Amino acid sequence: MGVRGSFDVRTSSRLEMVDITRHVRDAVASHAAGDGWCTVYVPHTTAGVTINEGADPDVASDILDALERIVPSGGSYRHREGNAAAHVKASLVGSSARVPIEGGRLALGTWQAIFFCEFDGPRSRTVLFDVS
Ligand code: ZN
Repeated sequence: MGVRGSFDVRTSSRLEMVDITRHVRDAVASHAAGDGWCTVYVPHTTAGVTINEGADPDVASDILDALERIVPSGGSYRHREGNAAAHVKASLVGSSARVPIEGGRLALGTWQAIFFCEFDGPRSRTVLFDVS
């Protein structure tokens, strides 16, 4: 078991991908030395985490648009709370991501960023991490 911690993310839209790479980098920089893994976990049922291109913000927009086409917010669902589409999107994206640590630093690819994915915002959210 590694060093665990958390940080908060405040989202400002119903659907949003927030680049949290800097938060995770800071967590790793203060806790890690050498090689290992950083697990990032989102403890929410209508949000998730994914890794994708961070250089061009259109990529995140395209991902959100594509998810909306696959799982329309105004679709027909059983869940009475009215946010069924957000639950489905959260399951498609997943609630955790693992990034290798090399020499105490996140070994992300050149264009990769870690995104908190909001599907039922705006809200105040929490992200957990484990550095081991
Ligand atoms: Zn719900």
